[in-house]
Amino acid sequence: MHPLEKFEYCPRCGSKHFVVHNEKSKLCENCGFVYYANPCSATAAFIINEKNELLVVKRAKEPAKGTLDLPGGFCDMYETAEEGIRREIKEETDIDVKDIEYLFSIPNIYRYSGIDIHTLDMFYLCRIKGDVEIHAADDASECFWLPISEIHSEQFGLRSIRQAIYQADFLKNLK
Ligand SMILES: [Zn+2]
Repeated sequence: MHPLEKFEYCPRCGSKHFVVHNEKSKLCENCGFVYYANPCSATAAFIINEKNELLVVKRAKEPAKGTLDLPGGFCDMYETAEEGIRREIKEETDIDVKDIEYLFSIPNIYRYSGIDIHTLDMFYLCRIKGDVEIHAADDASECFWLPISEIHSEQFGLRSIRQAIYQADFLKNLK
């Protein structure tokens, strides 16, 4: 499916003659406007405490409502990925993280409001020292520490999160 299939009209002039230009873009035959679909930036965090437990959240909203997830979300405009992940962690778990380390990224498709949103999910590792208070809020209905030996990737509803857990070698070393 073309990433802009649901976008039927030119967003500049409103013409219906908004046609596929190439695999990533559509062209308005009326005004010449070309619109490219680029992936949205998103972040997610592996937050590990000194007992080698992973902080997980339960998703409060669709997609994949009720399944486990890592704290994270879309980056806002004018925000760095590092600011984005710190903000999302604060919103969903109430933790202020200091040290964060970039790990890897995975392209993903996130179905929202009936539209497939292409994302580039960037994963970070955050290590937490000592006891911290956690409070679930925003997109998280619960948050809790899960011993790394009890992590099963199939409990995580979003595909890229499952894949990240599967490929996160440091988790295997902590078991
Ligand atoms: Zn147009």
